[in-house]
Amino acid sequence: MSSISQSIEQLQTEISDNVTLVAVSKFHSNQAILEAYEAGQRIFGESKVQEMTAKYKELPKDIQWHMIGHLQRNKVKYIADFVSLIHGVDSPRLLKEINKQAQKYHRKIPCLLQVHIAQEDSKFGFDKEELYDFLNSTDFCQMENISIKGLMGMATNTDNKEVIKKEFNFLKSLFLDLKNELLPNINTLSMGMSSDYPIAIGCGSTMVRIGSRIFGNRNY
Ligand SMILES: *Cc1c(COP(=O)(O)O)cnc(C)c1O
Repeated sequence: MSSISQSIEQLQTEISDNVTLVAVSKFHSNQAILEAYEAGQRIFGESKVQEMTAKYKELPKDIQWHMIGHLQRNKVKYIADFVSLIHGVDSPRLLKEINKQAQKYHRKIPCLLQVHIAQEDSKFGFDKEELYDFLNSTDFCQMENISIKGLMGMATNTDNKEVIKKEFNFLKSLFLDLKNELLPNINTLSMGMSSDYPIAIGCGSTMVRIGSRIFGNRNY
């Protein structure tokens, strides 16, 4: 058995049935993806539009492709017909473009709103106040071709578990507040990567995005 299928199987026993595993295959080959596919994995995450589109064309059609990276507005059109979930929606203008492109294909594109929870400036996302302002706006109410499924966040890149835990707990409580107050149908909380997914699951994650733990290191 390959180490890729072993990792998939280990992860599937480690995480419970109500946590969804997104296998982050960015920078890895079709061959590597097929090994994970043979082990039963159907959800793959990519961070570059061109790479995801090429893989979509070449690989089995029952794969669900998640866009997990920072998405530029001018590239939404290339993935709008097949993407199954966009994790990193970080601005009203991006969501508006996704809505517009989804309309062309007569579909509703599932999206997660990315929230800035890390200490680093470089991580994209809404802050709490921006999120509430936007969700209460008429702009948002008029978007009929997107479906908000929940939130996504990335913790600070640190060895300090307490910092990571605090950030994930913040996101979880924001998720619950939004569910109670504005978006009763949200059910997805995407948080946790190779280095911090056990903490994320402990804090209530329902979807983990794991790359190097499955496929090994990436060669950029
Ligand atoms: C690359 C990436 C991951 C996976 O990271 P690993 O450390 O390889 O598990 C998860 N989420 C996002 C947004 C990424 O860009």
